[in-house]
Amino acid sequence: MIKIDGDVRLDEPMAMHTSFHIGGPADLFVAPADARETARVQAVCARESVPCFLLGGGTNILVSDKGVRGVVVDLSRLRGITVDGMKITAQGGTPVSDMAAAARDHGLSGLEFAFALPGSVAGAVWMNARCYDAEIADLLTSVEYLGADFNPCRYRMRKSDWEYKKSPFQVIPGAIISASFSLAPGDKDRMTAAMQDHRQDRERKGHFLFPCAGSVFKNNRNFGAPTGKLIDSLGLKGLRAGGAQVAPFHGNIIVNVDHARAADVLGLIETLEREVRLRLGFALEREVILVGEWQ
Ligand SMILES: Cc1cc2nc3c(=O)[nH]c(=O)nc-3n(C[C@H](O)[C@H](O)[C@H](O)COP(=O)(O)OP(=O)(O)OC[C@H]3O[C@@H](n4cnc5c(N)ncnc54)[C@H](O)[C@@H]3O)c2cc1C
Repeated sequence: MIKIDGDVRLDEPMAMHTSFHIGGPADLFVAPADARETARVQAVCARESVPCFLLGGGTNILVSDKGVRGVVVDLSRLRGITVDGMKITAQGGTPVSDMAAAARDHGLSGLEFAFALPGSVAGAVWMNARCYDAEIADLLTSVEYLGADFNPCRYRMRKSDWEYKKSPFQVIPGAIISASFSLAPGDKDRMTAAMQDHRQDRERKGHFLFPCAGSVFKNNRNFGAPTGKLIDSLGLKGLRAGGAQVAPFHGNIIVNVDHARAADVLGLIETLEREVRLRLGFALEREVILVGEWQ
């Protein structure tokens, strides 16, 4: 038995922690107060051979209806931003939008693209999130994470480790504690205008109309068109399964329109994969991550 500085809950419904508003209970849900407590939780999980899932903003995951066996470690309490010259450092649980706004407030440009991108800084690093012709790897300089022995380690940016929607942290199994980015001086009014444009563009595209996890599949240049357009070309927009629907306004977004179950969403994902494979000959690659017990 250990005492943890942070929130600890049993059978916590994961639907409360995902942008899909879907997901059964986590056996144990822990939100450590800081990096040291995170390391302690992870060390105990490792010692007891209990599986441990690291949760950011929950905006790119589909959690099963049966929930998650073991421990969900919610890193959203690791928040804070420091600025030093042209460098901004944010704790992993900081909303990525807050970091972009703080950079702008300090007259530092580069992160405007990430304003209104849902999720945390750590989630964006882990995913190498991208939008508006920019990606996290463009500006990242270093990442502090908990290494194999749960002590803090520093990753220094090496461009060759990063690809479209791929980061080295998809291989390194450590909790991301903070990330630093190198920015450039910029005009605050221009930055504000760009950020507002991005938010309005997302609103216009319907991103915030229904609970969802953004794009379900990656885009693949070799397919000749974005995945949403491919799905649209097959007349599959609006397709429904239970309470889930392929968004009528975007073929690559699945929305929770009426108390959808994870099984409804997964059913639609599998249908889209099958139809695109059979009718267009392309194998879609999932962007949304399946979490929890699916058997
Ligand atoms: C409306 C909407 C629009 C979206 N638009 C975009 C878009 O334009 N571009 C884009 O790239 N994505 C987009 N997304 C997807 C999502 O916002 C991003 O992938 C985001 O970066 C995920 O961050 P998160 O904190 O929510 O991560 P989560 O969903 O919580 O987790 C994602 C992965 O990161 C890991 N992780 C999270 N935190 C840590 C940590 N501290 N240490 C180690 N691993 C961690 C998790 O274990 C998981 O494997 C959108 C989502 C929504 C809902």
